[in-house]
Amino acid sequence: MTRHQGITENILKLVGETPLVKLHNIAKDFKGSYFAKLEAFNPGHSAKDRIALHIIEDAERKGIIKKGSTIVETTSGNTGFSLAMISIVKGYKCILAVSDKSSQDKIDMLKSMGAEVHVCPANVPAADPKSYYEVAKTIHKKTKNSVYINQYFNELNIDAHYRTTGPEIWEQTGGKITHLVVASGTGGTISGTGKYLKEQNPDIKILGVDAIGSVLKKYHETGKIDMNEVSPYKIEGLGKNLIPTATDFDVIDVYEKVSDKDAALTAREIVKKEGIFPGYTSGAVLQATKQYADLGMFTKDSFVVLIFPDHGSRYMNKIYNDSWMKEQGFL
Ligand code: PMP
Repeated sequence: MTRHQGITENILKLVGETPLVKLHNIAKDFKGSYFAKLEAFNPGHSAKDRIALHIIEDAERKGIIKKGSTIVETTSGNTGFSLAMISIVKGYKCILAVSDKSSQDKIDMLKSMGAEVHVCPANVPAADPKSYYEVAKTIHKKTKNSVYINQYFNELNIDAHYRTTGPEIWEQTGGKITHLVVASGTGGTISGTGKYLKEQNPDIKILGVDAIGSVLKKYHETGKIDMNEVSPYKIEGLGKNLIPTATDFDVIDVYEKVSDKDAALTAREIVKKEGIFPGYTSGAVLQATKQYADLGMFTKDSFVVLIFPDHGSRYMNKIYNDSWMKEQGFL
């Protein structure tokens, strides 16, 4: 515990070096030992702090941005919060284009963090000038000394996890890890962490988690995007209806898909059994781990690391709200 001794220079120095916590009760019916990497211990409460800081500092090193410059991204989620936090500390303007599907809470949170938020219609094609993709691109083009984070198509997203999350897990497990279970959205976390770990020990299995309603699992298996797989779902940040270049599919051994209901109930089970208050995708990760266990993936010697990407406080109006759960038919 040297990290918190003395004075910390600023909040950004606390990005990364998150704890790996043994799960005692939740996985006791499965073979092997289970550990959760708690990314909510980042100062912005999610794994996205790592990529946001890495991408911004890369742009600084390349001279693309300096104090007073502008950071642009399309997100209402964790990445937006991380970018807004970093922008305050480093003196940047942060502009986020979000869809009108985003909850007012999220928009208020980003505004409270000093971001300029452009709310764009969700029900227009990505190529429409009003879509949040096009709005962000236009702002980026028009704004001198701006950086477009573009997390789904930015290889620095993978690189951030290759440089930090992977080495941390290798060190924290003393090289004993046998399986890594990770939610796949942009794919940055699973690809970067998985690549680093496989370079240390090629026998480590990298197990992906996808959402029912997303194309990633099928694409991994067939190399084709099957739009028949696409359907609306509730879990935010998991899966996708396009193929992000921030996913290195060669690193991933296999995917499991989870349902909105199973992921929500499993997140609530984590709280009750471990005293950890995780986000929705953490529930998805544990649910997928249960499915992998049922498929016979683990033995008594398995040393399984689950990445829990964020904190439950972001989901008070969803999975931790009984009325919402009942409306969905989950309770
Ligand atoms: N969980 C949450 C809550 C997220 O916001 C994201 C990011 N989309 C993920 C999981 C997936 O992480 P990645 O984008 O690195 O695949």
